[in-house]
Amino acid sequence: MENSMMDVSTFLFGEIIFGPIESRRLGKSLGINLLPVNCKLCNFNCLYCECGWTHHDLKNNKLPTRLQVNEALTDKLARMVANNHHPDYITFAGNGEPTLHPEFAEIVKDTIELRNKLIPESKIAVLSNATMLHNENVFEILKQVDGNIQKLDSAIEHTFQLINQPKGKIKVKEVIANLKRLSNVTIQILFLQGEHKGEKIDNTSDEEIDALIGALKKINPQEVMVYTISRSTPLLTLYPVSSDELSEIAGRFKKEGFMVIDTSEKMHSEQDDQNTSQKPT
Ligand code: SF4
Repeated sequence: MENSMMDVSTFLFGEIIFGPIESRRLGKSLGINLLPVNCKLCNFNCLYCECGWTHHDLKNNKLPTRLQVNEALTDKLARMVANNHHPDYITFAGNGEPTLHPEFAEIVKDTIELRNKLIPESKIAVLSNATMLHNENVFEILKQVDGNIQKLDSAIEHTFQLINQPKGKIKVKEVIANLKRLSNVTIQILFLQGEHKGEKIDNTSDEEIDALIGALKKINPQEVMVYTISRSTPLLTLYPVSSDELSEIAGRFKKEGFMVIDTSEKMHSEQDDQNTSQKPT
């Protein structure tokens, strides 16, 4: 394995329910990991993924069952309520792409019911890479969550393939077409620079921003979150953009009329971030 491809950052959540952690974007966020606890599972292989490279697939890995998730969440929320320690958000994130779980929709439905019963003031968020929106069950349940946060790092096919490295034949045009169907979506965009296999990586160029603005006009999101790398990445030749650059990009989106959440102001003081897309998603 060449040095730049080494797994230097395998940041995995070791439980179904994790946290709460202080998230840059969601405040006190209690995480739900629907993926295995010992490896990352995703249909992307993003160059910046803080869970490391994607080596595993659904066939060979055990996912938590609907019952296990419900029991673990009930237990955790009951303890939090008893201690008057309510999360701002209950967030589906974890070691990969949560919507790949075959019972994703049912588990979110259970979680909404549990939230309504135990902590109605808390919100529910999903951090996703927007590749399962063709699945009507996934699509319909995402309409019911408070924070429907979907990744779109580039609207240019070549850059999308380069940065996100989707498995199979996922095309950014189809991702954008599916995102257009959601009326409650927040788009999160991670900006980065660097190089991979001799190719320059930069989704901050004018061409990239113009393409993203074009896509955002089609999608019409409620909000756009702009952020950059804040943890080590599996690819060593990547760099975060500066807070000034991020602010400038945010300004361009705002000028087009989008509601923008610019994390650059918090970059200096806060390290934690729920999404490993947050993830990291
Ligand atoms: S950043 Fe998110 S979408 Fe990308 S590989 Fe990691 S878990 Fe998957």
